[in-house]
Formats: sequence, C-alpha cells, structure tokens
Amino acid sequence: MSNLIELINAELPQFQCGRCETPGCRPYAEEILKGSPHNRCVPGGQETSNKISDLLNRDILLLDQEYGPDLKTQVANIIEEDCIGCTKCIDACPVDAITGAANLMHNVISDICTGCELCIEPCPVDCIELIEVDQDQSLAARNQSEYFFDLKLELKQRKNKKTKMNKSIAENLDLAELINQKLDNRNINKQKSIKKLQLEMLDSQKGDKYISESDIEELKKQL
Ligand code: SF4
Ligand code: SF4
Ligand code: SF4
Repeated sequence: MSNLIELINAELPQFQCGRCETPGCRPYAEEILKGSPHNRCVPGGQETSNKISDLLNRDILLLDQEYGPDLKTQVANIIEEDCIGCTKCIDACPVDAITGAANLMHNVISDICTGCELCIEPCPVDCIELIEVDQDQSLAARNQSEYFFDLKLELKQRKNKKTKMNKSIAENLDLAELINQKLDNRNINKQKSIKKLQLEMLDSQKGDKYISESDIEELKKQL
C-alpha cells in the first residue's frame, strides 16, 4: 500500500499547489488510493492521469479541468517597494519559500519556490508577480518541494501545539488562582468558626467556681 502511494506520488508534478483539493501531492496520492478520482491534477496534465490509471489498473479518465487551471514553470517575485510586510504570503506558501518578518520587506527564495501561485491571492497590495523560468529550474524546486512541504507542516503542528500548551498553561494558572482563593476563604471561615466555638466554650464556664467571670472576659479578649 505505502509502496503504491510512493509510485503515485512520483508521477505527480510536486507543485504542492492544492488544486486537486488536497493540501499537497502526497496527500492527493493517498486520497487516490482510497478511491478518489485520479484525474484532478491539472498541472500534471492528461499524461500524469494516464500513468496513474496504468499503475492502479483503472480506467483512463479525461483530465478534470474543474480543478484547473494549469500552472506554468514559474517563480514568484515580490516587488520590494510595494511590500508592506503583512506576512500573509508566508502563511500561504506551502513550502516556506518566503522570508521576512512582520512590517519588513519580504523575499522569495527562488530555489525553493514551485510557482504554485498560492501567495498571490492573500497579498493585500498585489505586489507579488510571477516570472517564467525554464523547465530545469522549476523541476529542481519541485524535486525538493516535498521535503519543504513536510517541514512547514511540522513547524505548523509544533506552533499549534505550543499555542495549545500556552492556552492550557494559562487556563491552569486561572484554575490554580481560583482554587487558592477558595482555600483562603475556607481558612478564614475555619478560623472564624474556631473562635466562635472557643467563645461559646468560655461563656459556658460562667458560674463555674474554678474561674471568675472577669478571667473569662479577659480570655475572650485574647482570642
Ligand atoms: S501538483 Fe497540485 S494539483 Fe497536482 S497533485 Fe500536487 S497539489 Fe495536487
Ligand atoms: S512563494 Fe508563492 S508561488 Fe512560490 S511556492 Fe510559495 S506560495 Fe507558491
Ligand atoms: S502578502 Fe504582499 S504585502 Fe504582505 S508581506 Fe507578502 S508580499 Fe508583502
């Protein structure tokens, strides 16, 4: 089974563009093996779809253009003077090919960029352009895209885990404060009840021949 996933994945063009409605190429290979139609990778073209038909011994399907359009061999480029450093493109890039920090100018690492176009739409100032590159440059980026795709996924999962952890730490601290407050209140009430009991005990001794009323009053003051 995992071998078949490898074989299907090897036929996919590794743009990691999500046009097949899965987040990346390997997830699509897994979906195909689970029974999804194998004709949804428009960037891979009819040829890719046919190769997967052969691999799985399935009927040939016409490429489903609903999942298009096709992608060119290209890389993204950020027009520096227009970039406002909002970081939206960083979040959108499936292979972490964009560098930059909040409010600072951003850059594309063209060796990693697959040209998937996912950064174009989120940019609020439309300052990302696409530049056509030759097949070799595009292939070099796509050949290593799965590594960067997995890395980004892992970083995202860690970040989510950290956010979740910080959230539960904050919740635990709130809870601890509530518990402490409750315990403090309980101690105050406890001291009050003990004092009340001691006063009652002293009052009950009034009239006793072994202790005078003035001594009892004195003892009550000391409580
Ligand atoms: S290249 Fe894009 S459409 Fe094709 S399998 Fe990969 S993620 Fe899906
Ligand atoms: S920089 Fe843009 S085009 Fe290049 S891989 Fe990232 S999202 Fe895709
Ligand atoms: S989305 Fe556009 S404006 Fe925002 S950081 Fe990226 S390139 Fe710059």
